[in-house]
Amino acid sequence: MNFFETGLSHLNAAAKKIALDPYEVERLSYPERIIEVVIPVTHDDGSARLYHGYRIQHSSLLGPYKGGIRFHPKVDKDEVKALAFAMTIKTATAGIPFGGGKGGVIVDPKLLSDRELERLSRGYVRALYECLGPLKDVPAPDVNTNSRIMYWMADEYERILGFPAPAVVTGKPIEHGGSLGREPATGEGGFYILQEFLAQEKRDPKTIKIAVQGMGNVGSYFVRSAQRAGCRVIAVSDSKGGVFNREGLDISGILRAKEEEKSLVDFTGGKRITNDELLALDADVLVPAALEDAINDGNAGAIRAKVILELANGPLTGNADAMLSEKGVTIIPDVLANAGGVVVSYFEWLQNQNKERWSEEAVLAQLKSVMIKAFAEVHKVSNNMKVPLRIGAYIVALRRLSKAVQRRG
Ligand code: NAD
Repeated sequence: MNFFETGLSHLNAAAKKIALDPYEVERLSYPERIIEVVIPVTHDDGSARLYHGYRIQHSSLLGPYKGGIRFHPKVDKDEVKALAFAMTIKTATAGIPFGGGKGGVIVDPKLLSDRELERLSRGYVRALYECLGPLKDVPAPDVNTNSRIMYWMADEYERILGFPAPAVVTGKPIEHGGSLGREPATGEGGFYILQEFLAQEKRDPKTIKIAVQGMGNVGSYFVRSAQRAGCRVIAVSDSKGGVFNREGLDISGILRAKEEEKSLVDFTGGKRITNDELLALDADVLVPAALEDAINDGNAGAIRAKVILELANGPLTGNADAMLSEKGVTIIPDVLANAGGVVVSYFEWLQNQNKERWSEEAVLAQLKSVMIKAFAEVHKVSNNMKVPLRIGAYIVALRRLSKAVQRRG
């Protein structure tokens, strides 16, 4: 099963549990629109090159399409389709008034100069602007895209339209309409979910050992929150490998090393380990926060953690998910655990539309309340219907989507 088929299998399993009308299942099995674009970019040496990109608008049943844009050499249509579908489920699980979409450009941005990256980002918007808009489709950053790229995209859109429309894109720099609290949102939001889960299990965070794969935006804010709550972070990793200390790592030292753009393998406060060794550690909670398919047929058998908090999108393959669930591992699914980013994106959109500025405390307090509510809803369904949390999240989402289908007729 590829990533999209895995999503559809969860959709079908949840739909079966609530006897969802087959028409509604079918409707969610296809994106509403697949847009494929070719973006001409002039390089600094005067040569011109074409880049291929996508925007896939999966569902607008609950509001404007919402989802990030990824710049990566391995972007492909099926992956973007799967990510767009996951956004539909995620926004519906979190209960925010957005649909699901995702974009991508096949490019290795590390090979482009700043000016070339800007031309590519603006070119993406020129190719797509008729399909975008604060009430139509609202992109955001994803892998290898950031607030600067979002600024170029919003600026290009406003130049074409001739009037300000900052809510067309979220994840912008603070000085250009971005929201305070967006940067920590996904990691911190993921920790709120873990905290709620531990409270349900009557487990004290101070007794919990955590291993985190991926120390980018999401992983690094998550470990900050985990450490603040007294959890013991025993291992972290990046693409080059990881570091392990059974007594708990010095998180401030690790974050300092990351800020200085050093790799974790050079950090001296623990033993060096590989990414595969990290996955197999005797941790209470394993947090994949890097890549899709990180836990797969090849390594799922070695996992010893009893809880997996999915902060990356799609970090477990369908087989790995089935194998680990069978073994009794609790999987807190991506569509719930990493929804913090899109929730604060919604707050940014709201602030732009209403010409407001919220404090970081206000943003994080609202985020916390949305995440706690989403967890409670998913947990209740999962308990009452005796289904895994992932299927519980899909059921919460499908009930909202189904109501929208029925309202629309
Ligand atoms: P990022 O680019 O900031 O960080 C990715 C991290 O993963 C880096 O530390 C990188 O070194 C590490 N990594 C890459 N390959 C690895 C490998 N093979 N093994 C171990 N580590 C590896 O990205 P991010 O924004 O932190 O996103 C991480 C994941 O979370 C992605 O799946 C993304 O789609 C998902 N996500 C992000 C957000 C967000 O707000 N940033 C929201 C929802 C979901």
